[in-house]
Amino acid sequence: MKIVKYSHQLGMGGTEKCLQYFLEYHHNAGYKCMYLCRNSALNIFSKYMSISRVYFVAEWLMEIMKRLPMPPNIRLFLSIAKCWLYLKLSLDWRLVDKIFVETITACNLRCPYCPNSLYDRGLIKNTQKMRQELFRKIIDELAELGWCGELMPHSYGEPLLDDRLIEFVRYARSKISGLIINLHTNGELLNVALYKELIDAGVNKFTVTQHLPEPSEGVMKVLEYREKYGAGNITFSYDRLHVITNRVGLVPVKNASREVVCSRTRWPFYMIGIDYAGNVLICCHDYLHEVDVGNVSESKLIDIWNSPGYRKIRRDIAIGKFSLSICKRCKSGEIASSI
Ligand code: SF4
Repeated sequence: MKIVKYSHQLGMGGTEKCLQYFLEYHHNAGYKCMYLCRNSALNIFSKYMSISRVYFVAEWLMEIMKRLPMPPNIRLFLSIAKCWLYLKLSLDWRLVDKIFVETITACNLRCPYCPNSLYDRGLIKNTQKMRQELFRKIIDELAELGWCGELMPHSYGEPLLDDRLIEFVRYARSKISGLIINLHTNGELLNVALYKELIDAGVNKFTVTQHLPEPSEGVMKVLEYREKYGAGNITFSYDRLHVITNRVGLVPVKNASREVVCSRTRWPFYMIGIDYAGNVLICCHDYLHEVDVGNVSESKLIDIWNSPGYRKIRRDIAIGKFSLSICKRCKSGEIASSI
């Protein structure tokens, strides 16, 4: 059967709630302007991207404007404005719209472009699971903060190996109803019954990546099911990886980029990871947890986010200073070898 990239637009319910949240809390005129833009002229475009990406639009506009012929003082003004925007946004918790939580370390595959193929960390025999109380603590804190973004219960492990996943999803959904719960999986363990159970628990987005040469039978059945009975508001994508990162130098890539992976996207501004032990990861590529900013079992996530060390990292990235050792080694490229 031919595989098609299968994607459905997520319903706007959750997004609208998020927008409401942002409008309610963003008193800063700059933010208001951005989110009002989103609500009007950018509405159609922004339906396809997360809220925090709106500032990339601002950045692109500035980049385009900088290429147009203009007096040097306007150019200087734009550069200062861009720097100001980045510095401002890098420190603002409200821009965080993606949090991934590693509930389990194990993976059922060993893809050569994943550090799991080189380290024992992801072996099933070495499985480490996040404590249930810790997962709940994280969700409780996020609920307390009024956070409403995209929760991804995964890291380098395969989330479907975790028999508590449904329970975790249900708990998160019960505490923060507007969440986007995005399940990243290799799909090898997915089947229609599990798909329905996950939706019932609260998953509303599936990002499934095919790593094996043959497509997963279970995923194909799910796709057929969605064709037959409708997809509802559930986003589902099934695709192979096209561009990968070298996971801060841990795995090889072909035709490596010259720039670091997030030179434009500035992931640490809006994405946070938490590993199974509660360590906060500034970036999803920090597989070996080389950058230590704090642990959520000892401190509140918001205090870690606002800690001087973490702020400095983001401020440096805001001005284009990728001085962390992981960043210096970070490149993207083409897959060097597949399974
Ligand atoms: S390792 Fe550094 S440069 Fe690479 S994506 Fe992460 S934060 Fe960005």
